[in-house]
Amino acid sequence: MLWSHPVCGAAEPFHYSVGIDTQTSPSTAAADAATGHADLQVLHRRVTSWFDGIARDLPWREPDCSPWGVLVSEIMLQQTPVVRVLPVWHQWLERWPTPSALAGEPAGEAVRSWGRLGYPRRALRLHAAATAIVQDHGGKVPDTYTELLALPGVGSYTAAAVAAFAYGRRETVVDTNIRRVHARLVSGAALPAPALTAAEMRLAAALLPDDDETSVRWNAAVMELGALLCTARAPKCAACPVKDSCAWLAAGEPPPSYVPKGQSWHGTDRQVRGAVMAVLRLAEAPVHPDMFQREPADLGHAAEGIGVPLAALHRLNSAPEQLERALAGLLADGLAEMHDGGFRLPA
Ligand code: SF4
Repeated sequence: MLWSHPVCGAAEPFHYSVGIDTQTSPSTAAADAATGHADLQVLHRRVTSWFDGIARDLPWREPDCSPWGVLVSEIMLQQTPVVRVLPVWHQWLERWPTPSALAGEPAGEAVRSWGRLGYPRRALRLHAAATAIVQDHGGKVPDTYTELLALPGVGSYTAAAVAAFAYGRRETVVDTNIRRVHARLVSGAALPAPALTAAEMRLAAALLPDDDETSVRWNAAVMELGALLCTARAPKCAACPVKDSCAWLAAGEPPPSYVPKGQSWHGTDRQVRGAVMAVLRLAEAPVHPDMFQREPADLGHAAEGIGVPLAALHRLNSAPEQLERALAGLLADGLAEMHDGGFRLPA
């Protein structure tokens, strides 16, 4: 269905397809309606103008930020909020300003410096990508989607984001925030499908501005709209630059068609893994497996600088099998290794 109405308080009306089921529909109607539609330019203008006025000052958005800085930020931001990423990003870029600087150190140092960002396998992925950049690209982050995608640990989102934000290329960038905005603004759904669909990618491609420069601003602006206003739990629609043309609002704010999976943490294997990693990051020597369960003094060992994270791990009172699962998982993921009968970060 093509829907259009004047934008209250704005000189220019715009319209696009609504009521698309992004979970099942091929959404070609949306693509057809959006592509080449003159009013799409109004949508672009309103969202990017809003972005120009409120965009957060983030170091990876600075014109002098290197492509390497952009790549590091994209990996760190995938599952961690900006406020927690900022200090670690600065520390990384200061210590490893280039891919070759990181590649020249053991992978364990990347894991150690990951701090408490969570999902530390991302540190290993960045180290592997840095190594490949040095070996295959002379130390320069490649500038095309295809070459970026070929780097170890770089998926289609990261490849598109780095090509767009570091090199100004026209790429269809689709992250969680952008998916949510598209679902509400265009499709009238409270949430996007649980997993990214081909229909969503077609819709995102159809909405993308034609010229490189505007496409980059559009990608960044929609992402920011999702991060600041069109949030998962409590969208701030009153402040939204496109509220008068939002399909979800027009449909009466229908509830989600499914209950999103919660991010449980307490008592989970993830919490135990995180507590073990906190110990390993500070350890200067391999940690005996028994120390993860019992007081070092009871075992006749010295805590040697790991007393605080070790005490935090012990306070979890994890069942022995859960601890064993966590340790085995860290070994399997390459985040820890056995050396002299103890656990340590990878060399
Ligand atoms: S009006 Fe509300 S739901 Fe619609 S795009 Fe804006 S913030 Fe999201």
